[in-house]
Amino acid sequence: MPTLVRIVLSFYLVVIGAAEASAAHLPPQSVYPQFRSSSGTIRWLAEQMPLKVYVSHGKTLDKLIDEESGVPICNVGNLGHWPDLAASLIESQGELENQPIAEGFCPEHYDAAVQGIGIWKRFEKEGLFSFQFTDDPSDADIYVFWVNHFVGNNGMALFANDIRGYTSKRSFWLRDVQSGKRLPFKPVVIVLRTTDAVGRPMALTKMRASAAHEFGHALGIEGHSRDPHDLMSVYYGNGTISNNDAATIRYLYKLVPDLVP
Ligand SMILES: [Zn+2]
Repeated sequence: MPTLVRIVLSFYLVVIGAAEASAAHLPPQSVYPQFRSSSGTIRWLAEQMPLKVYVSHGKTLDKLIDEESGVPICNVGNLGHWPDLAASLIESQGELENQPIAEGFCPEHYDAAVQGIGIWKRFEKEGLFSFQFTDDPSDADIYVFWVNHFVGNNGMALFANDIRGYTSKRSFWLRDVQSGKRLPFKPVVIVLRTTDAVGRPMALTKMRASAAHEFGHALGIEGHSRDPHDLMSVYYGNGTISNNDAATIRYLYKLVPDLVP
């Protein structure tokens, strides 16, 4: 081949290569941008797998009262501090065992939560992440507790709304994680509500959906999709992982995170 043709051809290949590379960095359309937190992208690292998930058999943290305010420490206004509370309970021998069972909890709720979280297992074979359930509360990354109903920071019940769960996580900057610095134990805390808006035991289909939704947050999807058909919308979709949810978690787990739970 004459040299000039070869040069033109190789230049052409380089341009094509560059175009493909930049297209790969654009999220597919079905990825909802709300997955990203205001501080950046959050997800677990391959080195942390398999994640250990401890689902409590009904324990509630809402009998732990803040002495000054008289309000449960685990109130929704104090969401950012739930990992501190859980860490101190887990690290002090017997404290977790001493907590009572949430009113309205039934063993079927436990099964529903495990099933709901389990729907994310389908991504394990794609290598995105892996997790396993553990019965040892001293050694988990993600904890699921229960509450009869959520209260605000004034202690008032948030009965009327259909909020069925909350997830709190304290994330660390990737550079601090990679520096090998010893970071404090701050588990991800999910709290699921045992009763519905009118105080009846939460229906099992709803419990499965809310556990699945909260686990999506635990995996790193921070915000809510605006499409009500998505599990990660505030409406929980139909309780299953939609195409948008799947595209979003796949995209998230290909990014280098800014923060690590
Ligand atoms: Zn949510």
